Amino acid sequence: MYIDTHGHVNFNAFKDDGKEVLDRALKLNTWVIMPGSQLTTSARAVELAQEYAEGVYAAVGLHPIHLDKREVDVQEVQSEEVRERPWMLFETRGEEFLYEEYKRLAQSKKVVAIGEVGLDYYHQPSSQGKRKEYRERQKNVLNQQIDLALELDLPLILHCRVAHQDMIALLRERQDKSGGKLRGVMHSYTGTSEQAQELAELGFSFGFNGLIFKDVPALPPPSEVISSIPSDRIVLETDSPYLVPPKAGVERNEPAFVRFVAEEIARAKGISVEEIASVTTANAKALFSLSP
Ligand SMILES: [Zn+2]
Repeated sequence: MYIDTHGHVNFNAFKDDGKEVLDRALKLNTWVIMPGSQLTTSARAVELAQEYAEGVYAAVGLHPIHLDKREVDVQEVQSEEVRERPWMLFETRGEEFLYEEYKRLAQSKKVVAIGEVGLDYYHQPSSQGKRKEYRERQKNVLNQQIDLALELDLPLILHCRVAHQDMIALLRERQDKSGGKLRGVMHSYTGTSEQAQELAELGFSFGFNGLIFKDVPALPPPSEVISSIPSDRIVLETDSPYLVPPKAGVERNEPAFVRFVAEEIARAKGISVEEIASVTTANAKALFSLSP
């Protein structure tokens, strides 16, 4: 059995066949957690999860890129890449974090985490003053969502892109203040082995997906980072519809492909895929309090 701890079957890419995709995963004994990225996709995740008695769960949260205002540009729309994968395009509207609205959604028993939330400095403005403001706004919204996770005693699903030092500092401060009550996963982990050790000491786990099949020059080699992290701190994910593993042979990723990620992690660690499947499933069940 596998658990895809991060599959956006609640996104538009699955608008027409979300339930078929989830049924396909369940048939392969693969459970799915669907994180929201804004209010609409969080609500959709809850709605979909509520249609299943077991094996399909939701998380609610506001992703840092949705604090931004960005419009889709026409040239991008006409590119071949976008024609093949139209869900890569989305507009962001500069959304506010509405604490009570997210709290209301999180009342559902199917909501197992606050996420995905975090820091993303990839698209930050180039002027220093604006950059500072941009980062402060993201930290402020992340702190509000940490407040919500603490109030509801839920784990966090954290997104972090080129912001690991700030993330560690913020989590350390919050962990100290809360007396160690924060828990969660660093999804799509791209930090170094040293940063992973600090985050593990702060109580966090690590999610890996199809990104581990790529050697991205700006990032530490995935196999090195994976082998430095103990198996009992690793969970599997797909980040569907994005980051499709090469072996899947299609353009759109889906939770059923999480087994390819498990194979690659097993290879990096030099252990069997059965062992990775069983330890990551136990980790995810414990972290997100999934029953049975
Ligand atoms: Zn995601």
